[in-house]
Amino acid sequence: MLKDEDRIFTNLYGMHDRSLKGAQARGHWDGTAKILQNGRAWIVDQMKASGLRGRGGAGFPTGLKWSFMPKESDGRPAYLVVNADESEPGTCKDREIMRHDPHTLVEGCLIASFAMNAHACYIYIRGEYIREKEALQAAIDEAYDAGLVGRNACKSGWDFDIYLVHGAGAYICGEETALLESLEGKKGMPRMKPPFPAGAGLYGCPTTVNNVESIAVVPTILRRGPEWFSSFGRANNAGTKIFAVSGHVNNPCVVEETMSISFEELIERHCGGIRGGWDNLKAVIPGGSSVPCVRGENIKDAIMDFDALKEVGSSLGTAAVIVMDKDTDIIKAIWRLSKFYKHESCGQCTPCREGTGWMMRVMDRLVRGEAEVEEIDMLFQVTKQVEGHTICALGDAAAWPIQGLIRNFRDEIEDRIKAKRAGRMSAVAAE
Ligand code: SF4
Repeated sequence: MLKDEDRIFTNLYGMHDRSLKGAQARGHWDGTAKILQNGRAWIVDQMKASGLRGRGGAGFPTGLKWSFMPKESDGRPAYLVVNADESEPGTCKDREIMRHDPHTLVEGCLIASFAMNAHACYIYIRGEYIREKEALQAAIDEAYDAGLVGRNACKSGWDFDIYLVHGAGAYICGEETALLESLEGKKGMPRMKPPFPAGAGLYGCPTTVNNVESIAVVPTILRRGPEWFSSFGRANNAGTKIFAVSGHVNNPCVVEETMSISFEELIERHCGGIRGGWDNLKAVIPGGSSVPCVRGENIKDAIMDFDALKEVGSSLGTAAVIVMDKDTDIIKAIWRLSKFYKHESCGQCTPCREGTGWMMRVMDRLVRGEAEVEEIDMLFQVTKQVEGHTICALGDAAAWPIQGLIRNFRDEIEDRIKAKRAGRMSAVAAE
């Protein structure tokens, strides 16, 4: 279990003063100029040594990503863009950072931007996050007033500007290239890669897009050392991590814990157990709505990290843990996600535009049992034709929940079809 003195986010619940004064009292903005004096290469090396993997879902090593940025400018400016769009259903961790501990992010933006030779950073915040935007803007303003950012930031000699941009609420703008399009004032439609943002990102300039949590942990890692950070979790899955647990637990919560904590310990220690006890656990979506669900009996002993969740057929994603007990109509729950992804498809590639609607309509009939058993395999095949065949990962995100459902709960889908045939309406989901 993570000890209080090892928490990076010491005001996750908003119990303390979130202003600059409060943040400084909790150790933030301490020796920032000294960190910068160590130079860009040193910061990138320290981040690599810490083992931090991106907290936005993909888990790409953060230090390595930073090292892709040009060492010398070819005349174009470089940018850091922070993805604060956080629109994945079930995911609500970055909002706690932004509204209660915003200075962790602002300080992280300065250090990360410096490490990538960027004099400007854009934070793209989700349209629905009104209070979070206010809190973050207040923190940015305070940092400007105190000389921590702006010209000669922290008296380091480095000029640094930070801009907060409010999105309009489209899920697809959380995809990094759609986010860049939106920042440029265009429709949020993903770009083909390559070129990758490090070569040509915002306004065609070298850009790194990082998640809020990935950036907000940077100052503490550099102050306490990469060995301290990597002492938590397992090899290749280092550090502390914010988990957001929702659904059928007794106390849903957002909590910072060590990576690689077991699912059972996470739920027992912080969430008061499963509603109705462990025998009542049906399924868990461990990493935000786009990852496949896992059967209750298969996740109880699972370890919550990137590699271990792969072994149980799912993924850590954003560590947004959605717990479902035996009262859940799992077919209907996954149908609802299909509806979400259909709605949020930007429509520019055919497998996603057509496939998401097709999958949702079949799911709709499966919920009511009005399908043929053979259609289950057909639906699975369609998910495979969408997965990996689209410009961005939304196609995968729409396919994976259905694949998880069919892999884990095929018997339930078949039973419902048979029940409908036999006129056993009680076994069929309520409208
Ligand atoms: Fe748009 Fe979907 Fe294609 Fe992504 S996969 S670019 S959301 S149509």
